[in-house]
Amino acid sequence: HRLDLEIVEGSGNRVLTRDGHELIDFYGGHAVAALGYGHPQLVSALADQAKRLIFQTNLVELEARHQACEALANFAPPGLDRVFLVNSGAEANENALRLAFRMSGRNTADRTKVVALKGGFHGRTAAAGACTHGHESWYAFPRTPFDVQWVPPDDPDALKAAVDDATAALILEPVQGLAGAYPLSCEVLQAARSATEHHGALLIADEVQCGMGRTGTAFAIEDAGVTPDILTTAKGLAGGFPAGAVLASAELADALPKGALGTTFGGGPMACAGILTVVQCLSAPGVLDQVAELGRRIRDRCCVGPVREIQGRGFLLGLRCGRPAREVLPELRRQGILAGGATDPDIVRLMPPLTLGTSEVEALERALTELSSNSKDSP
Ligand code: PLP
Repeated sequence: HRLDLEIVEGSGNRVLTRDGHELIDFYGGHAVAALGYGHPQLVSALADQAKRLIFQTNLVELEARHQACEALANFAPPGLDRVFLVNSGAEANENALRLAFRMSGRNTADRTKVVALKGGFHGRTAAAGACTHGHESWYAFPRTPFDVQWVPPDDPDALKAAVDDATAALILEPVQGLAGAYPLSCEVLQAARSATEHHGALLIADEVQCGMGRTGTAFAIEDAGVTPDILTTAKGLAGGFPAGAVLASAELADALPKGALGTTFGGGPMACAGILTVVQCLSAPGVLDQVAELGRRIRDRCCVGPVREIQGRGFLLGLRCGRPAREVLPELRRQGILAGGATDPDIVRLMPPLTLGTSEVEALERALTELSSNSKDSP
């Protein structure tokens, strides 16, 4: 479903449409434009890298890759010290799931299933798609590569009951993006950690959308005091240059035989220049605090106009409206605000650049206030 809009340029946190409208970007090209558009440090890092070396295979050492991986591992919670760079979120999850079947099988040979959460989205490839809830309409493969057991996202007991000795991995998004920025409770995340530990299964945190500072901490799962065995991230990772990453403990990575993972383009120098710059910018003092603070401000002040309640954290927020998002979104665009939808038809999703400022949040407040609370066609 295409948006009825053509974007020709971006600058800062704004985009310009073909017909000359400037929109404040609360959509971020689907949570990708972490530093907005034309960010001077990102533009110069990519330009410099392009002049020096556009590509080299990951079979050779590269200083740019070494720096990017080191910066990313330092940005991530302690215990996720090894990085494998890929090209997208789905590819990161595909590799994470492969690792889980390979590594959790060390103690128990018969691991045949993955536990996944209702509402979760993990990508469209064979294994990641198998764990994506509601994939029936597009999956198309005759069968999934493993069994998948679904549990509700808000039921720690159901989750504990589902993870057993046949489980290779439990995969979850700490904040479910496509479902409408739905945050998992600390209780659910802690239950996920203890159940997987107990049964020798791996916990995979899919932070493709909610990671890289988006919720106001480097990674969303940190808030629950939980460290997963594997964490995947992508989207804003290189500020718009395609990149994904699989982070794992040194123990897990060191036990991998050579050749277990591979990719042609992953970890190329352009992506690495982007990753290093994004991590440096997000690590600057105050940047993530501002994401958390402005996210709180939106939650406090934007329950106006059509919005009934707000879920999510930082700059991954779902505004639950009293009428369909497909009505609200074009009205918001007419007020100069670009936002996204979710699988929940009543949710307007915000996933702006992490560089968004107070004046832009105030503009959102004003725009929402201008919109009516009810459908025009409701009685
Ligand atoms: N995981 C999550 C949580 C996502 O939101 C997405 C994409 O929206 C993916 C995985 C798949 O990422 P990609 O589209 O880069 O393959």
